[in-house]
Amino acid sequence: MHELSIAYSLVEAAAEAATRAGAQRVVAVQVVVGALSGVATGALTFCWEIATAETSLAGSRLDLVEQPVVVYCPDCRQEGELAGVQLFRCPQCGRPTGDVRRGRELQIESLEIETAVCDDAGGAASAEEAP
Ligand SMILES: [Zn+2]
Repeated sequence: MHELSIAYSLVEAAAEAATRAGAQRVVAVQVVVGALSGVATGALTFCWEIATAETSLAGSRLDLVEQPVVVYCPDCRQEGELAGVQLFRCPQCGRPTGDVRRGRELQIESLEIETAVCDDAGGAASAEEAP
């Protein structure tokens, strides 16, 4: 499945970023998905759990932010958001335009992480399991 390999690469990138940030745990990963990215968001959400299993991201939430297609119209000299991906026309004047400025992205926007937490009076520094 296409989305599964995407999920794996997102997990890999997110895990790297989390390590760099000194994360103890990843709570959520926010990913921007453009309308033209070709990613089925439902499938990606479904695959997230599989891809994160037994990684440092296990149990994390995938927050998808859908990015609509934005085209540039040379007549209006401005960008406009398309209502759908069927018609590439300027939403202001209706002129056909293929100048896509946004909508193809598939990228991690942000991570919600937990860093070393001060637990209540237990003092246990680590709850890490032996490998
Ligand atoms: Zn226009």
